[in-house]
Amino acid sequence: MLLKVNLAVKGLGRFLVRGKHLSCSASIISRGLVCAQHGHTGVYDVIISGGGMVGSAMACSLGMDPNLEGKRILLLEAGHKKVMDRVPDAYSTRVSSISPGSATLLSGIGAWDHISKMRCKPYKKMQVWDACSDALIIFDKENLQDEMAYIVENDIVVAAITKQLDSLTDNVEVKYRTKVVKYTWPTPPQASDIVPWVQVTLANGETLHTKLLIGADGPNSMVRRELGIPTVKWNYDQSAVVAVLHLSEPTENNVAWQRFLPTGPIAMLPLSDTESSLVWSTSHQHAEELLQLDQESFVDAINSAFWSNENQSELIETAGTMFRSVLSAIIPSAGSPRQLPPSVAGIVPKTRVMFPLGMGHASEYIRHRVALIGDAAHRVHPLAGQGANLGFGDVACLTQLLSQAAFNGKDLGSLQHLLHYETERQRHNLPMMATIDLMKRLYSTNVAPVVLLRTFGLQATNMLPMLKEQIVEYASK
Ligand SMILES: Cc1cc2nc3c(=O)[nH]c(=O)nc-3n(C[C@H](O)[C@H](O)[C@H](O)COP(=O)(O)OP(=O)(O)OC[C@H]3O[C@@H](n4cnc5c(N)ncnc54)[C@H](O)[C@@H]3O)c2cc1C
Repeated sequence: MLLKVNLAVKGLGRFLVRGKHLSCSASIISRGLVCAQHGHTGVYDVIISGGGMVGSAMACSLGMDPNLEGKRILLLEAGHKKVMDRVPDAYSTRVSSISPGSATLLSGIGAWDHISKMRCKPYKKMQVWDACSDALIIFDKENLQDEMAYIVENDIVVAAITKQLDSLTDNVEVKYRTKVVKYTWPTPPQASDIVPWVQVTLANGETLHTKLLIGADGPNSMVRRELGIPTVKWNYDQSAVVAVLHLSEPTENNVAWQRFLPTGPIAMLPLSDTESSLVWSTSHQHAEELLQLDQESFVDAINSAFWSNENQSELIETAGTMFRSVLSAIIPSAGSPRQLPPSVAGIVPKTRVMFPLGMGHASEYIRHRVALIGDAAHRVHPLAGQGANLGFGDVACLTQLLSQAAFNGKDLGSLQHLLHYETERQRHNLPMMATIDLMKRLYSTNVAPVVLLRTFGLQATNMLPMLKEQIVEYASK
C-alpha cells in the first residue's frame, strides 16, 4: 500500500516534468539543428552507458536493427571485455533464470545460439512452498515440451552478447575499461550557450556527445542520480547467499525449488544433473554466519532449510488440511502433487558469496535525450527471478520504438517516442515490482493469521490451473 501511494505521488511528478520537457524539446529539436549537427565526428546517435547483461543486449539489439543502419552507436563499459573462448569447467555463482520472453529477445539478437552452444539449463516446473504450513504451489507448462525458463550463468549471457557485438563492429563501437565520470545535459533553448546534445565525459578526459543517452549503469546508476530523477528505494533487511551445490545423486533436475522460510526464501535452481545453484535470502546476520560455516555445516543448514518442519504449527496444519479437503471436494482433479527436492551433498569450494538486497524504482525512466533501462530504472528482490528479465523487456520495447522513430526520420532523442517507452514499461514493471515486494512482506512473518491467509491463498491458487497459467504467462514475458 505504502509502495503504491509513493509511486502514485512520484507518478504525478512525472507528468509535471513531462510538460516542461515537451516544450523544451519541441523548440530545441528543430529539424535544422538536427541536420546541422549530423555527421559531426564527435556526435553519436546513441551512447549506452553500462555494458552489463542489459546494456550489452541494448547495444546489440540496436546494432542489428535494419532501420538503425548507419547510425553511430557506442557502448561504454567500465569493466573489461568478457570473452569466453571455451566454457569454464566450473559453474559460476551468478546465474539468472531467463524467461522465454527474454530468450526470444536474445535469440533475435543472435546471442541465444551462442548461449545454447555454451551452457544453459532449461526447467519445466517450479515448486514453491511455505515452511510454516504444508501449502504449496506447482507451476508447470501444460505441454511439457515447453520450457518454463532457463538457468544461465550471467557471464555466459554477457560473453554470448559480446561475441555477437564482435560481429557488428560496422554498426556498434564498444569501449571497455572506459568509465564515464560526468554527464552534461542539454541546455534549455533560451540559454545563451546552447548545448544541444548530452555530453559524456570519460575518465581519460575525452568528451563525447550523443543525441540519445541510454543509462544501463545498474542499480546505483550515475545517469539517474545526476539527472536528479526521484527514486523510490529501500534496502531489504536481507542479503542473498549464493553458491554452487553438488546434489547427493544425479537426477533429471528440471525443477526450480523455492521454500519460503520466515527469515526469507531459499531457492535451488538446476544447473546440470548433479549441480544446482543456491539463492538463499536471509537476514544480514544469518547470511554472515552462513558464510563463516564450514562446508559440512553449511550443507546441513541448506538441507534443513528445505526439509525441516520446525516452523509448522498444529493449528495451521489442521486448518490447511481442512481447507484442502473442501477444495478437493469442489475441484476433485485439480492441484498438483507435492514433489520432494533433491538433497544436497556438498558445495563447490569458493562459490559462497553474499549480496545485500534492495528495491528501487525510478519514477521517471526518461528525460529529454535520456532513457533508463535495466536495474538503473528498477531493482527487485530476486525471489521471483525477474530483475534481468524486466531489463530485457525494456530493451525489446525501446528498440522497437527507436526503430520506428528512425524509420519515420524522427530524432531518436525526442521525448515523443521516449514517452511511449516509459508508459509501456512502467505499465508492465510496476505491477510486477509491487507483487514481488508484497510476496517478500507476506512471507517474512510467522504470525498465525497471516500464515493462515497465505496458506489458503497458495492452496487455492494451486487448485486453479487457469490462474496458474496466467501467472506463468505474465512472468514469462
Ligand atoms: C542474488 C541475485 C539473484 C538474481 N537472480 C536473477 C534471476 O534469476 N533472474 C533475473 O532475471 N534476474 C536476477 N537477478 C537480477 C539481475 O542480476 C539484475 O537485474 C541484472 O544483473 C541487472 O543488469 P544490468 O545490466 O541492468 O545492471 P548491472 O549488471 O549492474 O550492469 C551495470 C553495468 O554498468 C557498468 N557501469 C556502471 N557505472 C558505469 C560508468 N560510470 N561508466 C561505465 N560503465 C559503468 C558496470 O560496470 C556494469 O557492467 C538476481 C540478482 C541477485 C542479486
